[in-house]
Amino acid sequence: MHVKTRLGGSILIAAAVLLTPITGAAAAAPKNEKQVELKGHRQVAIVIDDFGNGMTGTPEMMELPVRFTVAVMPFMPTTKQDAEFAFKRGDDVIVHMPMEPVRGKPEWLGPGAITTSMSDAEISKRVEEAIAAVPHAVGMNNHMGSKVTADERVMRAVLTVVKKHGMFFLDSRTTYKTVLPKVTAELGVPLLSNQVFLDDVYTTNHIAKQVGVLRKYLETNESCVIIGHVGPPGKLTAAVLKDAIPRLQSTTSFVKLSEMVVPSAEKDIIPHS
Ligand SMILES: [Zn+2]
Repeated sequence: MHVKTRLGGSILIAAAVLLTPITGAAAAAPKNEKQVELKGHRQVAIVIDDFGNGMTGTPEMMELPVRFTVAVMPFMPTTKQDAEFAFKRGDDVIVHMPMEPVRGKPEWLGPGAITTSMSDAEISKRVEEAIAAVPHAVGMNNHMGSKVTADERVMRAVLTVVKKHGMFFLDSRTTYKTVLPKVTAELGVPLLSNQVFLDDVYTTNHIAKQVGVLRKYLETNESCVIIGHVGPPGKLTAAVLKDAIPRLQSTTSFVKLSEMVVPSAEKDIIPHS
């Protein structure tokens, strides 16, 4: 477990300094930041978003040959079924919390969404209900949320509940204005950040290209969180991952997000930027 903890420590440093989202060929080595000493295996956490609605690609993802993290939307037709299935596979389950974006249609949000016009009490109630709706959840990430994750008051209300349940938060990094590093540090909630979106364009070419971005990123970083989706790109993403995983495994371990979380005692000695 010590090895994991040490790797975890490096991961948080890497995540904390990478404050610009990387979605394309921009995944170059971090500039002007502390160089992480690279040796041995890399760690990659695959997170797949948007489970809970019987979306396309769900069975294909559930056949991935490695453990991964299943982000399940609350209050949807297959919320419980998908969470239970993933848990039985040994995957991590996290709540994929619908949150208001700066742009986007309200109907994409799904039920139980958090918006910036809500009171702290309403936010707290909705987050509690969402956690209760997703069995076995050990963490949370945002579905959309570019407006909410830039709002300190709202995120403080959300993260207070997350902390109460001993969960971590994964910042999907839908906005560069994210307040998550600041508010999670304040409250002592473990924070992980996404470095590569696999399938923001729904083509096999693009998804394969993003696997290349991941490879490049791992040349200079010990660990990486990558996010894909069930839904429109689901089958394509599952197929690309199935193909890529065996070829990455000689240098890379695939882990669940909970294995990347740094215990709070150790987190205290890591400087926050
Ligand atoms: Zn989503």
